[in-house]
Amino acid sequence: MVDHGPRRGNKVALTFDADMTDAMRRQMRGGAGTSYANLKIIDRLERDGVPATFFLTGMWVEQYPDVTRRLAANPRFELANHTYGHHAFTADCYGLPRIAPRKMTADVARTFDLVSAYGGRQTRYFRFPGLCHDRAALTALAPLGLTVVDGDVVSGDPFATAWQPIVRAVLDQVRPGSVIVLHVTEANAPMTDEALPHILAGLAERGLEPALLSEVLATG
Ligand SMILES: [Zn+2]
Repeated sequence: MVDHGPRRGNKVALTFDADMTDAMRRQMRGGAGTSYANLKIIDRLERDGVPATFFLTGMWVEQYPDVTRRLAANPRFELANHTYGHHAFTADCYGLPRIAPRKMTADVARTFDLVSAYGGRQTRYFRFPGLCHDRAALTALAPLGLTVVDGDVVSGDPFATAWQPIVRAVLDQVRPGSVIVLHVTEANAPMTDEALPHILAGLAERGLEPALLSEVLATG
């Protein structure tokens, strides 16, 4: 289980969670134009050649196969696992519906299978929904040979109504080796794309350079 890489050098990891729940999927079917794939973020990262790591739910991959293909095709992007349907893996986790403990291992294994079908830079990194985990959840996932990655810089971008607090939260906490937690789910993190250029500028001002998560965890 890791929160960040070694505190040396100047590398930091931008990580984007791609949540998808049954409730979100229902909302998409009901509301025309509701999108949980923030293409403005991907456009910006690609345009500026910025490395990033995406923690994908299996359900998001099923919803956005073309976007997943685009992420996998970019050698500056790494792919990681954020469960199949973004259920809580502990009793109390931001009101998320809880997965039965006996289903945890299969849920995460299935998600690795879904994501790995796209190729590209695959990893065995895994992030719990809401970063909620306990000993039972960690034990259930141990056979999968994964690395649990929480992150030490929580941007607080879900449900943000302005971009400035996201930028401030990131730049106040970030240090060499940091793992920054952001979301690529447009409809419930609608300010992240506006925050991103300011985050990138602030990192550059501090002499910090975005890098792949595997690079940050390996070398700092
Ligand atoms: Zn999430």
